[in-house]
Amino acid sequence: MPQVTSLPFAATQGSMPSLPAIGLGSGERAFSNAALPPSIDAPIQNAKILIVDDEPAITDIVKSYLHKAGFRNFHIVNDSSRAAETIVAILPDVVLLDIHMRPVDGWQILETMRREEITQNIPVLVLTSADDEENRLKAFNMGAKDFLAKPVFASELAARVRNTASAKIYRELMTTYSMQLESDVLSDALTGIPNRRAFDYELKRRMMEWNRQKIPLSLLMIDLDHFKGTNDRYGHHVGDLVLRQFAEFLKGQIRDTDLVARFGGEEFAIILPYSCPRESRNAADRTRAALAEHVFELPELSLRMTASIGVADITHGDDAELFIRRADSALYAAKRNGRNCCFYHNGAACEEIGQVNGGANAAALTPKNVFGQRYNPSLEEMRIAIVDDEPQIIALVRKYLKDAGYRNFVTTDDASQALTMIRAESPDLVLLDIRMPKVNGLDILKTMRADYHLSAIPVLIFTSATDIETRVESLRLGANDYCEKPLHVNELLVRVRNTLMAKVHLDSLAEYSSNLEHQVELRTAELAASRREAIQCLARAAEMRDDNTGRHILRVGKYAAIIAREFGFCDERVVWLEHAAQLHDVGKIGVPDSVLMKPGPLSKEEFQVMQRHCLGGSKIIRAEASSFSAHRAAGKDPTETESLNSPLMRMAAIVAETHHEKWDGSGYPRGLVGEVIPIEGRITAVADVFDALSTQRPYKKAMPIEQCFKIMAENRGTHFDPAVLDAFFRCKSEIIRTQRDYADD
Ligand code: GH3
Ligand code: MG
Ligand code: MG
Repeated sequence: MPQVTSLPFAATQGSMPSLPAIGLGSGERAFSNAALPPSIDAPIQNAKILIVDDEPAITDIVKSYLHKAGFRNFHIVNDSSRAAETIVAILPDVVLLDIHMRPVDGWQILETMRREEITQNIPVLVLTSADDEENRLKAFNMGAKDFLAKPVFASELAARVRNTASAKIYRELMTTYSMQLESDVLSDALTGIPNRRAFDYELKRRMMEWNRQKIPLSLLMIDLDHFKGTNDRYGHHVGDLVLRQFAEFLKGQIRDTDLVARFGGEEFAIILPYSCPRESRNAADRTRAALAEHVFELPELSLRMTASIGVADITHGDDAELFIRRADSALYAAKRNGRNCCFYHNGAACEEIGQVNGGANAAALTPKNVFGQRYNPSLEEMRIAIVDDEPQIIALVRKYLKDAGYRNFVTTDDASQALTMIRAESPDLVLLDIRMPKVNGLDILKTMRADYHLSAIPVLIFTSATDIETRVESLRLGANDYCEKPLHVNELLVRVRNTLMAKVHLDSLAEYSSNLEHQVELRTAELAASRREAIQCLARAAEMRDDNTGRHILRVGKYAAIIAREFGFCDERVVWLEHAAQLHDVGKIGVPDSVLMKPGPLSKEEFQVMQRHCLGGSKIIRAEASSFSAHRAAGKDPTETESLNSPLMRMAAIVAETHHEKWDGSGYPRGLVGEVIPIEGRITAVADVFDALSTQRPYKKAMPIEQCFKIMAENRGTHFDPAVLDAFFRCKSEIIRTQRDYADD
């Protein structure tokens, strides 16, 4: 046990400015009362503060200091034997703990708190007259967050309590916030439909699908006409209701595979996969026409609105921005054209959709039909193409099918036009003659099966009963079925029906699995995004206690990513490291202000406390305190921590723990040597030191860039891994550019 002075309060220390002190009965007791700290946030004000001291006079004065500083929520314990149970009962945000007490002393209370899971993480600020190095270290070793010697200054007490409480409360808020993010992150607050972020994910995903599998993709940008006027005339709240109803209206217009999102303000977007150009343009004009008929029922008034719509189809070489821009410019063409109309961007220019499409005939279909016909079709409405060089056969087949209820036909007797027609009309079934003069039906079949857009369209061929060889060849090339010429009406009808039914089932199966995949990817993207935001939140929290600006962590992340890429990391690990490296100093949350903010050089003991930020950081990140080194000691793969299933967080824990290790073994906390230091730690060390050298800090100027590089080079093989440093130097120009782009303001 350390030797303890019996005086509860030492005289004011020489280093403290002489300020009015308040006596506490005994002549030696003195608390000083300097200027109060700046005002504190509401959540901190309401922090539950428990003061444990066996002298009521002290608890009173501590409470009065904190009350003056804005704190409002106090609990006092003078009987130290009741401290432990009170802590469990009220779960305070901060405990101010005296050490020398009877019958139970502060050490015992600390010990009990650390043993119990529910009290383990409650920050304790030790407030004692037993102020010597040994007691300080003992307090920190037992898990105290901070240490204050009596007598205390009111301002210092308040500042430290504020810091301790805020670290805890903001950590808790952040957890709640990141859970909230997970649910809010993808929907628009006003309308409840997917927001711009969800739109971006979905568009990216669908564009990838297009790149991989050439699944067609169209985009509609929809903007309410003169919406500002509605706001101006009836008020903003009516505008809000209109936007909500408009979102509902749009949702009623789409297929399951489509996504309608609020793009911003009164602009909405619909992503339509699986639709050929004709369909997306029909869809746009249908929606526009349906809206013009729609009545918005609002409290005490009914309104009609119109919208302008721009349409674009994806084309080769598009990125998301380009694709959106084309649809947007079609939208503005529609606005310029007088509104309440649709324009299509054909890749070169914008054209009005009514003219492309004969907009009027689309009005015969209900909106649901236009969007839904491919997946909720009644067989009779499915489109059947007939290709035969003999017009009489076409007429005959058409008559048979029409009598059976089918009504949607496209036909040609010119085989050289067959593919053009099939591409433009995307039929649900092709009836194809094989023996034709200009083009052989087998060649048409071959081309269709090799073309992504056409390969899924079923083909039923006509062959003569005697030509078995051709029949076999066409089935081998991918025909779905055949009919013998001369045609028998009943056989034709059965085969057409069977082929169409098979297509309906295949389509709904594809639709179902794509939906599932969609759900999973949306959830995954959403979780990844909220985790990134939570990480940055945590990194900023640590950074704020230091003197750095938030840009330091950003730059360290960027530099680490540049080096890692050059070093040969795959893209995914580069991104992880960029985020993981931002958390390298998160352990500073646990370093007391007295050490972290000390202006002069640190004493040996203080340096030891400072060094704890490495293991402390890793402990914060890992769900359990199973450190990299503990794993290594236990003979396990240190990068595999069961408690962390996210590789990014695993990497972050490793970076926090090892970014101060040096190549030659002279670093801390473990003095690891060479390649025993995980590569992520070696890379972050280079990034962190370079940023410290090249930027200004409150106590030093920024060093000229060439001098920074010189110092880095001098430490090759001592502080830094030579291979990592070489990678860093190979990226010198990118590093300089990053430094400029992310410079402190
Ligand atoms: P235009 O036909 O050219 O599109 O005219 P406009 O009035 O619809 O378009 P403008 O861009 O001039 O005005 C858009 C208006 O949309 C202005 C803005 O106040 C309103 N707005 C944007 N977001 C909201 C919202 O969430 N609620 C309400 N009530 N209004 C919004
Ligand atoms: Mg508008
Ligand atoms: Mg550090």
